[in-house]
Amino acid sequence: MATIFSKIVNGQIPAYKIAEDDRYYAFLDINPLAEGHTLVIPKQEVDYLFDIDDDTLAGLTLFSKRVAKAIARAIPCKRVGVAVLGLEVPHAHIHLVPLNRESDIDFHKPKLQLTQERFVEIASAIAQEFK
Ligand code: AMP
Repeated sequence: MATIFSKIVNGQIPAYKIAEDDRYYAFLDINPLAEGHTLVIPKQEVDYLFDIDDDTLAGLTLFSKRVAKAIARAIPCKRVGVAVLGLEVPHAHIHLVPLNRESDIDFHKPKLQLTQERFVEIASAIAQEFK
């Protein structure tokens, strides 16, 4: 059975896409901690990040770096924070969260409620900065 993230990659369910190449895909987290909270995944279905083969993991890190730079250009913030949880979705993913303070990456806090229009605006602003 395809994971929910593979269904996003395959276009079976919608997502606010930021960028993709043949091996990786980045899209907005639907329950964001901050505007610009993004998930980066390998298209290959592997549950746990550190079970990914070395080459794919290295590529995922470099792709995430490009996405993080795009987030920083599009969303005013001091840093782009990085987190890996993977407790909900069994398809490895890296959270990238724009940070102005430590509490911006507190996964216990209530998630932002954004309109569809705002998600589209944010995704398009970050996608435009992706190089
Ligand atoms: P975790 O596996 O603990 O890292 O959490 C999974 C993350 O994926 C959560 O932050 C969810 O909000 C996010 N998520 C789950 N389904 C979707 C979806 N369809 N589109 C975007 N983000 C999602």
